Amino acid sequence: MSSLFKRLFGHRRKTTARVLSIYIDPDVCMCSQACVVQCPEVLEGNTKSGVPRVRKGAERYFESHFEQLKMAADFCPVDAVKLVIDGE
Ligand code: SF4
Repeated sequence: MSSLFKRLFGHRRKTTARVLSIYIDPDVCMCSQACVVQCPEVLEGNTKSGVPRVRKGAERYFESHFEQLKMAADFCPVDAVKLVIDGE
């Protein structure tokens, strides 16, 4: 990194946002599965009730799949996907 670049931008800390937890509100979810399509590594749609759930062990993807999880929340037509986010 050149010293000029470092002086101009070196002080900026790279932000690494990550999802801490996910809640899907079963009272408003209409089981469209739109969120599952956005992040199938984390969300599982094949449930008895039709309301998606977080896959077992999927916490390991909460940081690497941050953008996909944000999309999952954004694509929900009834705003049922609630993300607790750290570092944004
Ligand atoms: S996108 Fe929203 S309404 Fe559709 S299944 Fe997911 S949580 Fe439910």
